[in-house]
Amino acid sequence: MQRLVWLLIGTLCLVGLTQARADVVVTNDGAKYRGKIVKETSRAVTIKTRVGEVKISRDNISHIVREAELKADFKKRFETAKRDADKSYKLGKWAKREGLEAEARQAFERAVELDGYHEKAREALKHRQHQGRWYTPEAYRKDVLGLILYKGKWIKPEDKEKLDQGFIRTKEGKWILPEARDAPGPARPRPARPRATPRPGTPTKPKPGVKPNLGKKAPPRKAEDTSWYRDNTAVSSFADAAKTESRFYTIRTNVKPEYAKRYGGMMDRYYVRFQKVFKEFLPRGANQRKSEIWIYASRDEFRRAERVGATTGGFYNTGTKRVTAFHGPFGNTGTTREVLAHEGTHQFQDLCLGGRFGNAPIWILEGLAVLFESAYYDGKEVVIGLVPRDRLQSLKRGLASGSLIPLTQLIRTPQQSFTAYHYAHAWGLIYMILYYGESKTVRQRCQKWFSDLFSAAKTGRVTAETVEERIGGREKFLELEQRWKDWIRDLPYDYDPR
Ligand SMILES: [Zn+2]
Repeated sequence: MQRLVWLLIGTLCLVGLTQARADVVVTNDGAKYRGKIVKETSRAVTIKTRVGEVKISRDNISHIVREAELKADFKKRFETAKRDADKSYKLGKWAKREGLEAEARQAFERAVELDGYHEKAREALKHRQHQGRWYTPEAYRKDVLGLILYKGKWIKPEDKEKLDQGFIRTKEGKWILPEARDAPGPARPRPARPRATPRPGTPTKPKPGVKPNLGKKAPPRKAEDTSWYRDNTAVSSFADAAKTESRFYTIRTNVKPEYAKRYGGMMDRYYVRFQKVFKEFLPRGANQRKSEIWIYASRDEFRRAERVGATTGGFYNTGTKRVTAFHGPFGNTGTTREVLAHEGTHQFQDLCLGGRFGNAPIWILEGLAVLFESAYYDGKEVVIGLVPRDRLQSLKRGLASGSLIPLTQLIRTPQQSFTAYHYAHAWGLIYMILYYGESKTVRQRCQKWFSDLFSAAKTGRVTAETVEERIGGREKFLELEQRWKDWIRDLPYDYDPR
């Protein structure tokens, strides 16, 4: 699992989640919404948070901490403290804890005014001592280190001339002109969103005589071509359908041969991704047999032949070990690709678990399937870790209205009772386990827990009790739930784990 997770997360950090002072609405279940209160009625409070406006019912609000009130409080306290260096310093600490950055600074500076050798206040202001004198960070760079400010950076005076001439300095300290710079280190794929195709007339080829600019951003990715899903031509009946072999799959389909080939290439890419993610769990020799996929040329044909309901996009059968789907768009925005990614995940999970698929907790199986279903694919690359907007939205709404499914209940929900809302929860929990970045210790504990649960399914049924036990008991599990709620509340829709 460690391997799995490292491949998934790359260099992870939670940026942009530092919390400056704002209004805070605390709900009855302990969730905190931070932002600016924009509307208040007798029934609800609307707060504009970093990820959009959230309307919270009064019934669900425990209390509200308002920025304006805290600032007024600070003013009063400052009047009392302002003639005493220690009191001013303590007030500064209080203001900092409350997220009042400017006020904290004001109080620390007051302490230093009253007592130039108030060490703690100096340190709080990041002042530095040199030969018995205190310096502000700027003065230290200027007067002690002899640096100068150049385009927002502190540099040595002798470097200014080189920079003016357009030179840049390499990591090794060599001055070079930008054209000679090598492409930056190992290429790390950036998750890309489907982007608009370049406008006609936009030059895509470099003009003759102009050197290609190495080391610059990769050209924008093409938006996914979904037009082929609307061509439901059947080249034969499904009973006579040909088999197409790709590297890892045997695909039986009656779509046009070029589409069958395209599916093979696409699924091979997913397979490679599955292999990386589930590396630790894959038994030896599991790769030798190809996985089987059936794709009907149209939805109608699929429904008639497989006798499934109108909303079924595809399924994985643990008996036949086969994924069955149809060629076409699915739901509002989905396509066969999402269905195959989801069901293909189950097929691969079953392979990892040596057929003991039913032993694994449903939320793990489904959470991972949704993770892959939400991947981005541009015809070449499968990029996982993107946030499925609709799933996150339903979680954020549930959080605001106090109607989330308690996780103790989620892990006890049997598969036949899994609704779209449960899928969203399962995804959210898996997503946190993989990408939660607040503390390395928590993350590692989370991942170990998850990894052990999945491995345990190889030898026996993993019950909800096991899930709670393995994290350290019900208390710990409830603690995780609280962290999870906070994480979901703050998670931006365009969160990029890389
Ligand atoms: Zn599923």
